[in-house]
Amino acid sequence: MTSADAVVVGGGTVGAWCAYFLRRDGLRVILLEKGMLGQGASSRAAGVVRAQGGTPEAVRLGQWSRRFYLSQRDEIGTDSGFTEQGYLLPCFTEADIAAARERMAMQAGLGVPVRWLDPGEVDQVNPTLAPGQTLGGTFCAQDGYITPPRNVTAYTVALLRSGVEVAEHVTFRGLTRGGVDTSQERIDAGLVVLTGGPKLAEVGRLAGLRIPAGGVRHQVAVTERHPDLDPGRVPMVFDLAAGLYWRPEEGGLLFGMSNPDEPPGENREVDEAYLARMRARLAALVPVTAGLGLRRIWAATIDYTPDHLPIIGRAPGLDHVTVACAAGAGMMWGPGVARAAADVALTGKTDVLDVSPLGLDRFDEAGRSRLATDPIALPFPERISSP
Ligand SMILES: Cc1cc2nc3c(=O)[nH]c(=O)nc-3n(C[C@H](O)[C@H](O)[C@H](O)COP(=O)(O)OP(=O)(O)OC[C@H]3O[C@@H](n4cnc5c(N)ncnc54)[C@H](O)[C@@H]3O)c2cc1C
Repeated sequence: MTSADAVVVGGGTVGAWCAYFLRRDGLRVILLEKGMLGQGASSRAAGVVRAQGGTPEAVRLGQWSRRFYLSQRDEIGTDSGFTEQGYLLPCFTEADIAAARERMAMQAGLGVPVRWLDPGEVDQVNPTLAPGQTLGGTFCAQDGYITPPRNVTAYTVALLRSGVEVAEHVTFRGLTRGGVDTSQERIDAGLVVLTGGPKLAEVGRLAGLRIPAGGVRHQVAVTERHPDLDPGRVPMVFDLAAGLYWRPEEGGLLFGMSNPDEPPGENREVDEAYLARMRARLAALVPVTAGLGLRRIWAATIDYTPDHLPIIGRAPGLDHVTVACAAGAGMMWGPGVARAAADVALTGKTDVLDVSPLGLDRFDEAGRSRLATDPIALPFPERISSP
């Protein structure tokens, strides 16, 4: 039997950064990954990072993660490729405006430099947008995106340099009295952190826990290049009502859209019919994309929770086990979730954000949350498994 101070399950962005933070705090850490680092959602994401969150918790996690991305080069000698692009959330109805103004007040109160753009200003900062479409929108110049594969490289470097023992191709099988059981050997450890992204419910089951977290197909595509899509002309945009977002990518646009009717479960097949709907909505808002071919299309399983809020907390009745999930926002919130989970594992509290509402105890037996759903999450399903 091997031993460590802490075992972290899952080599995605949440588990890996958490393992790194625990190591930086002086612990001997083993990171278990059943396949290869980054093989889950973390290498397949779109990379959008915003502090324009829908709840104070979302804002805090976005701010913490952004600051971390900006500090990485000094700390680990590489980075996740964070690019400050500016993010526009357009409004299309009076109700959108009322909600946006309320959010803006909350975000500004937490120090986010978000501002209101009237319809003319929206068209001005975003010359690719079909003019006259919006009633205005909120804009934050500090929001941006990372390059997800580069983030996997960055945490791989951080793990290896800091001395985390990375155990790839080793599967977590369950908790033992003094640690964990794996596909290879038992590991004696005082602390255990469970992550798993879209597989977190299964990881929880292996640990004897019910974790209401799911996975669902999410599709992303990248258009061909076009001079009009030069990054200087294209802020990132989130068309909240449709669940469509886009950002610049190598001279074209990377866009993704969430299908609220998608049945929960693992699925990485491209859905051509839904892709056509994504393209139609994008072309209505960014007409230049109508005639453009696609350079890449992929579908992957994204993690979510019923209220689209993260899970950060100790497992009920198991003080040495901490559960962490970024609820489909692991690029935007992942490092913040990881730091908070490391703090909670070590001391039971954190100053990243108030985690008291975010534990597993917010869910009832049926997995329903007592918290309101994050109002600016992608429209994922709210139930966990297919009926
Ligand atoms: C197409 C797509 C686009 C996205 N776009 C964005 C975006 O723009 N912005 C954003 O913020 N987020 C985005 N996301 C979400 C983001 O990618 C995830 O929230 C994040 O990657 C989750 O990180 P994680 O570490 O929790 O999970 P993962 O990256 O899935 O890592 C979990 C790891 O656990 C391992 N594992 C599972 N079971 C076991 C076991 N029993 N033993 C050992 N290891 C195990 C898995 O192999 C996996 O590597 C997107 C996701 C997808 C799929």
